Order: sequence, then structure tokens, then C-alpha cells
Amino acid sequence: MTTAIYPGSFDPITNGHLDIVKRASSIFEKVVIGIYDIPQKSLLFSVDERVDLARKAVAGFSNVQVTAYSGITVEFARKIKAQVLVRGLRANSDFEREFEMALMNKKLAPDIELVCFMANLRYQFLSSSLLKEIIKLGGNLDDMVPPDVSVALKKKLLP
Ligand code: ADP
Repeated sequence: MTTAIYPGSFDPITNGHLDIVKRASSIFEKVVIGIYDIPQKSLLFSVDERVDLARKAVAGFSNVQVTAYSGITVEFARKIKAQVLVRGLRANSDFEREFEMALMNKKLAPDIELVCFMANLRYQFLSSSLLKEIIKLGGNLDDMVPPDVSVALKKKLLP
């Protein structure tokens, strides 16, 4: 049985992330969405809120779980016995950083394999940060996020 971990900040989870989850869950027996508790970026949602939103979003997938974690991603992967690390790649913006992280992770954990999924064309330009910027300005992006995420974003960002 192959377990994959899909790590990230997920601040909040978007349909772009969910597209990767759906595709990964059709290949691997188990997918664990690992929500990194304190990434080096400013966050809108607490770790509990990010976990809660992600859990609601993946309620329909029987082989997907959501867990928060701290520390080094590959160590968490080992702890949950994941053999594969899943990441999503959007055109241009992600490759260099992902490549750098992949080489570092390989050094730390040669036993864990990285599988990157190319982002769906529909969500190539979708990032959690851009999403927050647009919602803050009153834009409607309901087709880019699950319904609970849309409600939570508006509650946080709109007066
Ligand atoms: P991180 O802070 O680790 O980059 P994110 O929550 O921003 O965490 O993203 C988690 C993973 O999902 C990363 O591999 C990222 O490239 C990928 N990702 C983010 N947005 C999209 C999207 N719209 N489509 C596909 N993959 C995405």
C-alpha cells in the first residue's frame, strides 16, 4: 500500500489544491494532506482553521486524511509511513523553488520519492495569496474555492 503526503500551508485550501488531491487519491491508496503549522509566511487562518477547512473540502474522499504537522516535512512523512511526497506545479512560478526543495528533501530522506502533478490549466494562475487579495477587494472567486472556504474568506476579509 502506498501512502502519499501532500504538504503545504493551505491558507486556505483552493480548488487548485483539490484538483491535485483528487488526482493523487486515484493513484495512491492513501493521501494525507499535511498542513504545515507555522510556515515562513504571513497567514490568514490559524492551523486549526486551515485543517478544518481542508477536512470539510475532502469529506467526499474515503482515502484522504488531513493532519497538521510541525518541523521537517520528510520527518513527518516518515512518521506517518508515507513513501511519496506530492506537490503541484504551476507554470513558471513553482519550478525553481520546488526543485530546490526536492533536492534538499532527497538529501534528508533518500527513501522518499517526490511526485509532482502539473496544475490543471483552469487553476494555473490560482494561488492562496492572490485569492486573498482579490476577495479583499470585493472580487468574486466562488468557482475557485470550496463553498466553506468562500464563506470563511469573506468573513475574515470583508468588513
Ligand atoms: P507551500 O507554502 O508549501 O507552497 P501551498 O499551500 O501554497 O504551500 O501549496 C501547496 C502545494 O500545492 C504546492 O506544491 C503548490 O505548488 C501547490 N499548489 C498551490 N496552488 C496550486 C494550484 N492552483 N494548482 C495546483 N497546485 C497548486
